[in-house]
Amino acid sequence: MRPVDKGNAPKTYRNYGKARHDLAKKIGYYCSYCEMKVMNSIEVEHILPRNQGGEPLDWDNFLLSCKYCNTIKSDHNSNLSDYLWPDVDNTDLAFSYSEAEMIKPKTSISQSLQILAKNSIDLMGLDRFPGGSNKPTEADTRWRSRQKMWDLAKLSYNDWKEAPTIQMARQIARTSLNGHYSIWIDVFKEDQIVLTEIDKIYSEIGLFKKFTSTRSRILRNNAKI
Ligand SMILES: [Zn+2]
Repeated sequence: MRPVDKGNAPKTYRNYGKARHDLAKKIGYYCSYCEMKVMNSIEVEHILPRNQGGEPLDWDNFLLSCKYCNTIKSDHNSNLSDYLWPDVDNTDLAFSYSEAEMIKPKTSISQSLQILAKNSIDLMGLDRFPGGSNKPTEADTRWRSRQKMWDLAKLSYNDWKEAPTIQMARQIARTSLNGHYSIWIDVFKEDQIVLTEIDKIYSEIGLFKKFTSTRSRILRNNAKI
């Protein structure tokens, strides 16, 4: 789950829907949870639901979501502390991605963090796919988008192995803007040049800065992970 930095509220809102394009300007037209690119009808989602005490018009309580994640999440979380969130936690450290199992908590993190990661997966139904134990609804096409991106990332990987140039790395980074950031990071996990270009291009759309110039890891304050 791509960790995002929304920055400060650009203004105050009288209608939360009006924050949609300001949010997209900061973090791109991507679902904050499943990482799918959403060019049509992206939704402003209340991280803590309004009927669970969440602030209806507070920028800090907004993320962008596809309609599937938003609908499944609904008002089911009554707190923030039992889950991991891409705007406050270092969520790139919490989940592992694979074609076979979609998304799982990383086994390298502590048991208690794995529970929080699993809670987030369950809250948005992020691991729903036809062959899995959690089946998607007919309308839920997130798994298709994810599968398409695995295919595209693997083809890009083959190109990279044939022509590992900085130009190719930049081209792959541009292609990664098709969505599902974490899949690209997984496919190119051994290829630092490509990872750097992917992070550079995503930093223009709100990727939380993960490394210093000397590649020490920057961690967020007050994050659960
Ligand atoms: Zn989504």
